[in-house]
Amino acid sequence: MMMTERLTTQESKQHCPYCGSPIHLIIEPMDEPQQYTEDCEVCCRPMVVDVSPDQQVEVFREDDT
Ligand SMILES: [Zn+2]
Repeated sequence: MMMTERLTTQESKQHCPYCGSPIHLIIEPMDEPQQYTEDCEVCCRPMVVDVSPDQQVEVFREDDT
C-alpha cells in the first residue's frame, strides 16, 4: 500500500512580527490560500499567517493593512 506524500503537513520556521521570536508553524497543504491568526507563544500577540497555494508562508502583524 502506497502512502501519498501530497497531504503531509509541512513545518515552516518564521519569526514573530512583534517580538522577533522564532516560531514554528505547522502548515496544512491545501489547494487554496489560507489565512488564519495565531498567537505568539512569547508575547501572546496575534499574528496573521498567510499561506499561498504553493505553501509560501508569510507572517505579519494583525494591525498592518
Ligand atoms: Zn511575539
